[in-house]
Amino acid sequence: MQNAPLGAELEEAFRRVLKSGQYILGQEVERLEAAVASQAGVQFAIGVSSGTDAILLALMALGIGPGDEVICPSFTFFATAGCVARVGATPVFCDSNAQDFNLDVEDAARRISPRTKAIIPVHLFGQMAEMDAVMELASRHNLAVIEDAAQSLGSLHRGHAAGSIGTFGTFSFYPSKNLGAIGDAGMLVTNSEPLAATARMLRVHGAESKYFHKLIGGNFRIDSLQAALLMVKLPHLAGYSRHRAEHAARYNAELAGMESSILLPSAHPYNHHIWNQYTVRITNGRRNALKNHLAANGIGSEIYYPRPMHLQECFARPGLTPDPLPVCEKLAEECLSIPIAAEMTRSQQDEVISSIKGFVFSSGA
Ligand SMILES: *Cc1c(COP(=O)(O)O)cnc(C)c1O
Repeated sequence: MQNAPLGAELEEAFRRVLKSGQYILGQEVERLEAAVASQAGVQFAIGVSSGTDAILLALMALGIGPGDEVICPSFTFFATAGCVARVGATPVFCDSNAQDFNLDVEDAARRISPRTKAIIPVHLFGQMAEMDAVMELASRHNLAVIEDAAQSLGSLHRGHAAGSIGTFGTFSFYPSKNLGAIGDAGMLVTNSEPLAATARMLRVHGAESKYFHKLIGGNFRIDSLQAALLMVKLPHLAGYSRHRAEHAARYNAELAGMESSILLPSAHPYNHHIWNQYTVRITNGRRNALKNHLAANGIGSEIYYPRPMHLQECFARPGLTPDPLPVCEKLAEECLSIPIAAEMTRSQQDEVISSIKGFVFSSGA
C-alpha cells in the first residue's frame, strides 16, 4: 500500500495539524497550493474539497449557467458532465477516439452552437487530450477551456503540463489518483488573476470578507489535514508515475501480438503519459469474460467506464433520442483497466500477464 512506507511522516503531519488548531485552509493549504502551482506550471492554485468541486468552481467562476452549452466527452467519469448540469447549463456530448480514449476534437467542432460557452477536454487515464486542436477551436469560437486533469497531474503534452494550457485546470486527489489524499481533496489552477480571485471567493460562500457576500458561492474548502498529508506525498509523485510507466512498458511488451483479442493502449510520442490507468480493449464481446477470469485468479480489474454519459438515465431528455456516439459506445463495451499501481511487484505483474495470456489462448483467439 502506497501510504504504508510514509506512515511516520504522515503521522507527524497529522500531529502538527492537530496541534495547530487550524483545520481548514490556512498555511498548510497555502504551501500545497504553491507546490501544485509550480508542479503544474501555473500562477494560481486554489485548494478545494474534491476534483468534482474544482470543475464546479471553474464553471461558476466563468459564470456559466442556464441557456449555456458546454461540450465534453461522453466517455469520462460522471463529474465532468454532472457539474455542467448542476450549474444549470447543458452538457453537449462529443465522441472520443479509440487510440487514446480522449475527445475527438473534430466531432466536438461539429457540436458547437451559438450557445456554446466552454469545452472540457478530459485527460483520460493519464494522457493529455489533443490540446493544440482544442485551443485552436476554442479561440475560433471564443470558448473557455476547462482541462479536467483529475487523472493527469504531472502529465505533459508537447512539453506543456496538464492544467496549464486552458482557462482553468482541475485536479483530484481522490485516493486512487496518482497523487492520492487520505480522503477527498482537489485543486483548481489558472493563469488568470481575476478568475483566481473569483474562484477563491466562491470557495468560501462568495464572501469578500467574512459575512459579506459579493457572490453566491459554496463551501468548497479543502481540509488543512489533507493538504499537510499531500505535501508528504507530492515529492514522491514523479516516482509513482515512473513506476506506473515501467509497468505499462512491460505490459506493452508482454501482451503484444494478440491484436485479434486484446488491443493495448499507446502513448503518443509527444506526450508524457502518467498511466493513471492501463486500459486495454477486449474485442469479440469477451471483455466481461476476461474480467471474470481475472477475478477467479484473484486479480482485480475495473471497467472505466461501462456506460457513456450520453446514455445515462439522468441526462435523458423526454422525447429526445441522444445522438449515437459510436466510438464511446464501443469503448464502454471493450475497455478493461488492469492493475498498474506503482507498488505492484514484478511477480504480481507476472500473474496478471499469465492470467491474461491463459485466457486469450484458452479462448482460441
Ligand atoms: C476522479 C475524477 C473526477 C472527480 O474527482 P473527485 O476528487 O473524485 O471529485 C473528475 N473527473 C475525472 C475524469 C476523474 O477521474
